[in-house]
Parts: sequence; C-alpha cells; structure tokens
Amino acid sequence: GGLLYIVGTPIGNLEDVSARVHQTLEQADLIACEDTRHTRKLLSHLGLAKPMISYHEHNRFSRMEELTDRMEAGERVALVSDAGMPGLSDPGEELVREAVERGVPVIPVPGPNAALTAVVASGLPAQPFLFVGFLPRHSKERKAELERWRHIPASLLFYEAPHRIRQMLADVQEVLGDREAAIARELTKKHEEWLRGRVSECLTWFEEEQPRGEMTVVIKGASPETKESQGEEESSEWWRALTIM
Ligand code: SAM
Repeated sequence: GGLLYIVGTPIGNLEDVSARVHQTLEQADLIACEDTRHTRKLLSHLGLAKPMISYHEHNRFSRMEELTDRMEAGERVALVSDAGMPGLSDPGEELVREAVERGVPVIPVPGPNAALTAVVASGLPAQPFLFVGFLPRHSKERKAELERWRHIPASLLFYEAPHRIRQMLADVQEVLGDREAAIARELTKKHEEWLRGRVSECLTWFEEEQPRGEMTVVIKGASPETKESQGEEESSEWWRALTIM
C-alpha cells in the first residue's frame, strides 16, 4: 500500500547518505522535494532518476491533499528537503499530520540534522536541549522570543543566516547574557569550522571575519539552580578555538 517516507538527506557531505536512504529513494514512486533542481543533483549522485514534485514553504498546504490522495491510492511518496531532516525548519510537519489523520503509514528514514550534529560536538551540555531553529528576522520580535527561553535550563539550538549572525548574537548577549556559545559552520563540508567562546567573544571574532556559510548556534542554558541567565562571574574553563579541518 501507499505510504509516506520522511527521508533525511545530507547537510553538505554527500557521503552521509545511508544505504537505507539510498534504497528508500530508489523504491519510492514519487519524491516530494523543496527544490527539484537541488534534489536532482542528489539523485544523480546516487545514480537514480525519479519522478519529483515540488513541496515547499509556499505550496505546503495546497499540495498536501494531492500528495496524500496519491498515498491513499497506493503510491510510496518520499519527502526530502534541500538538506537534513524534513520537518525541522523545513516543510514536512503538515504533510505528516495529514497522512497520520488519514491513516497513511509514515515511516521516518533518518539522516543528518545540523542541530544534533552541532550540539553533540559543541562541548556544551547536550541534555537537555531546546531546538529553536530560526529566530524572527527583526530585532524586536527576536528579543521577545529570546525572552521566552531566558530561564530555560537547557542548551538552546538556533539556525541563522550569515548576514544576520552579528545582530542575532548581539540580541542573545543582551537578552540571555554573555553565555558560553559554540558556532558550527559548514558542518560535514570541506571548510567545517568551530567557534567556541562567550557570546561577546564570538561577536568580536565576527567584527574582523566576514560571516559566511551555513551556521548552527548552540548557547548554554540558564543554570538550573538559580533559573537566572549565566553571568560572567561564573568560573569557567570555556575556551575559544577555531578549528579548520
Ligand atoms: N532540516 C535541516 C536540518 O535537519 O538540519 C535544516 C534546514 S534549515 C532551512 C537550514 C539551516 O540549517 C541553515 O541556515 C543553517 O542554520 C543550518 N544548517 C544546515 N546545514 C548546515 C551545515 N552544514 N552546517 C551548519 N549549519 C547548517
């Protein structure tokens, strides 16, 4: 019968495609993807040619019915996004919900995810963490959202575009305090780099270095005892290192 596969694809390094992801894409009748040109490159790397249909931010509601109808009619639909796991800062959530409500089996086929990859190598606590994804673009709304997470004793995981990283970090420092941070850039790619230090140190770094590439930001949570944001007075052996691999 028909079903929906949620398939994780590389966040940069094409070698991160698992055998099962390959198999799933091969067996699917239809691949729903954000950008057909982008996914065609992945498929051709895998030696596959498959029918594709676009499923993105702007048609995620209008296409949902049609795709679920096709699953009900017996098609195996694989949902992928441009990078990483669909449904996380990418379209997917609504389609999964629709499939679940209509009794269509939903089968996740896991692959890379930038937030998880970043937090486990950040050196900051991975448990608990709170995945925020992208903050609002405008400073006022961004600060209001940061305010919601200020007292949460969990590492905070953000995605951010390079042209907004300075302003984002400035707002983080203002609202959350000068916490320990780790910024992962270009994960799994040739120019993977890590910046670890206080938020203020990361900001200083970006005064001289033009931010480029894809970035995931990990910020240490509020300390559990006081539920206050961490101050500079707390002793720490946190260090800053930039590793170029
Ligand atoms: N669904 C994806 C996932 O599972 O990670 C995330 C998609 S979201 C539209 C794209 C954002 O994820 C980028 O702007 C960046 O913040 C982060 N990201 C994606 N690839 C990355 C990489 N290779 N290194 C660091 N961050 C990355």
